[in-house]
Amino acid sequence: MTDQKKSSGISRRTAVKGIGATLGAAAFAKAIAPITTWTAEQSVDEFLQKHYQELTPEQMQKILARLQAETKEQYGAEVEISDPKPQEGVKFAYALNLSICVGCRKCAQACHLENNHDRPSGNSYIRVLEMKKGSLDMEQGKVDYKGPVPKSDSFYMPVQCQQCDAPPCVDVCPVEATWKEKDGIVAVDYNWCIGCRYCEAACPYHARRFNWTKPQIPAEEINPQQGYLSNRIRPQGVMEKCTFCLHRTREGRLPACLEACPTGARVFGNILDPDSEIRWVLENKRVFVLKEELGTKPSFYYFFDE
Ligand code: SF4
Ligand code: SF4
Repeated sequence: MTDQKKSSGISRRTAVKGIGATLGAAAFAKAIAPITTWTAEQSVDEFLQKHYQELTPEQMQKILARLQAETKEQYGAEVEISDPKPQEGVKFAYALNLSICVGCRKCAQACHLENNHDRPSGNSYIRVLEMKKGSLDMEQGKVDYKGPVPKSDSFYMPVQCQQCDAPPCVDVCPVEATWKEKDGIVAVDYNWCIGCRYCEAACPYHARRFNWTKPQIPAEEINPQQGYLSNRIRPQGVMEKCTFCLHRTREGRLPACLEACPTGARVFGNILDPDSEIRWVLENKRVFVLKEELGTKPSFYYFFDE
């Protein structure tokens, strides 16, 4: 580490520590976290940025403008980053019909493109598991299955963030960089996360992903419609996860994975709306959740046609 970097890190941490005394427990915890250091890739504004939940609308506008300019500078792409909020009377839920999922992984591919994932890693928030008929133990599912699908002795179970109502990932975060929003989405503040990966270890559904490298995406492949809490290009060294495409769904659109599914296996909507399709599924199908015994209360349901 150069002297310049060393001194920048120390002075920044000292500064934030001082501010932290007035900002509450999360800010203080982040300021004293041993792996919180300034890097040459970060601007001072970015490093001193407050927690998402403490930002005023004016501060957020400045941050969005800064991120858009950085994306242009670093990736050569014009993007529009918004910060859509949860809507009153909306609680999102997802259901998946395992009888008609064919394991084609088009949902996982759509996630890869929609959410501006790093291209070389092929990352996606969705893992499609090939399961032997008769078993519902997701830990026995095969992720790297090959060959034509569906296989006659198997069924297919896509797994992504279950947007748990009692999320263990939130409980373990030492700096409150992840929390549950009013519409049920568990969000991550990429600029507050310290990359400790405690949440990844705590998630029983293997739904969290760590950014090991700075994402590489050609400019022409970047999805320009981005959300601050969702598919904007994440910095290296932070945690990320499925947000039910909140940049789309909070604007009344459907998740990209649902639109990509060729069989109609996916059902998404507002469970507080009695006329919604998701509500119909929950009331008329024998739905179940994964690892119910853990008490995580998922907002993601599975069912088979009778
Ligand atoms: S599925 Fe995992 S990452 Fe998603 S809310 Fe539940 S514990 Fe957290
Ligand atoms: S796109 Fe639909 S059918 Fe294909 S793996 Fe995903 S949920 Fe299953």
